[in-house]
Amino acid sequence: MINLELPKKLRASANQAHQVAAQILRPVSRKYDLAEHEYPKELDTMAAMVEGLNDSGQGASGAALGRGDEQPKAVGNTNGGNMASLMNVIETCWGDVGLTLSIPYQGLGNSAIAAVATDEQLERFGKVWASMAITEPSFGSDSAAVTTTAVLDGDEWVLNGEKIFVTAGERSTHVVVWATVDKTKGRAAIKSFVVPREAPGLSVARLEHKLGIKASDTAVLLLQDCRIPKDNLLGDPEVNVEKGFAGVMQTFDNTRPIVAGMAIGLGRAALEELRGILEEAGVEISYDTPAYNQHAAAAEFLALEADWEASYLLALRAAWMADNKKPNSLEASMSKAKAGRTGTAVSLKAVELAGSYGYSQRPLLEKWARDSKILDIFEGTQQIQQLIIARRLLGKSSAELK
Ligand SMILES: Cc1cc2nc3c(=O)[nH]c(=O)nc-3n(C[C@H](O)[C@H](O)[C@H](O)COP(=O)(O)OP(=O)(O)OC[C@H]3O[C@@H](n4cnc5c(N)ncnc54)[C@H](O)[C@@H]3O)c2cc1C
Repeated sequence: MINLELPKKLRASANQAHQVAAQILRPVSRKYDLAEHEYPKELDTMAAMVEGLNDSGQGASGAALGRGDEQPKAVGNTNGGNMASLMNVIETCWGDVGLTLSIPYQGLGNSAIAAVATDEQLERFGKVWASMAITEPSFGSDSAAVTTTAVLDGDEWVLNGEKIFVTAGERSTHVVVWATVDKTKGRAAIKSFVVPREAPGLSVARLEHKLGIKASDTAVLLLQDCRIPKDNLLGDPEVNVEKGFAGVMQTFDNTRPIVAGMAIGLGRAALEELRGILEEAGVEISYDTPAYNQHAAAAEFLALEADWEASYLLALRAAWMADNKKPNSLEASMSKAKAGRTGTAVSLKAVELAGSYGYSQRPLLEKWARDSKILDIFEGTQQIQQLIIARRLLGKSSAELK
């Protein structure tokens, strides 16, 4: 039998994350939506708490995600860093997605470090705040098309290139940069490098103005003869053409369920708000009566809630598999595809069903509708997730199914 009740330890940290969301994030949600690029100083008070969570392996948005070989003793059924991070991110994104992405020391780059770093690197980079820089002006979805170069010069790597749309790219203390060490060797030569903020040659060119998640700084970064120590290359420096892209791609198996969790948290916020609005308008939502016998808005609500529930279960499965050392690329993509489009559908429908009130800035519904879209784009778009799912199900390679 499946028991979906949260274990005590996870419940405690999720409750704590919910308190943070309710008491710190929600109250300033609109403020930083209107004040794009302003630094959310309220989050500084959270740094110490987050550090505590990380020490206990329960980070809010992925920093505590472990490598396959770093998971707690897997005896067939365990809940580790992936499940804890999923639970926590659902709660903080119930509060605010943009602010969650700005919580110090919780960058997507931290997940990359946790996924591929050596033990020595984990010691050095375990407590930094790392953003993740893959995307370049010449590509987004096709992450094998990296053109940023890394050339070894004595004891240092010299990086050159331009990275765009880097979440927390201005505020993070470190940036995990994807670069190729040998363009002739294709995707196998793409490695990730930890670039400290103060590294010579790293600069922020500008910040993007966006549709949503305005509290999150999205930066264009320039790497101009940027020098970093040789041992800042994450994981195995060997270019193994057989193994190909596997090393860096492993990051996504951990981060996609977390991005799904972001959409799940936002979706739950929208559903809760919508339920209140409908009930106040006299619409009764019943679980005992068939949907077709209920008010049209109630029937729509039930359909949205069912989709939300499916997203939640898929994300639980993907995170559980990661914690239990089971290959989860297929399930990670399934969870992100479902949650990404459900988050968008739920929040936009909530605006619609709440009418002009929903479209106004009085509730946060219109903001959530704007914020939700990115969760169906970054860490792989809806179409890319579906492509990955199709490849896995049909047993096709990326060359066979593009
Ligand atoms: C706010 C924000 C934050 C971001 N944060 C980060 C970050 O921290 N780090 C980072 O590296 N990147 C980040 N990104 C970049 C993001 O990951 C990319 O935007 C995303 O991968 C899509 O790439 P693209 O925008 O170039 O679209 P494209 O790849 O050009 O795709 C355009 C459209 O074509 C579709 N498409 C592409 N290829 C296929 C295919 N083979 N089959 C079917 N459809 C296809 C896509 O789904 C999409 O709908 C961020 C982007 C935004 C907007």
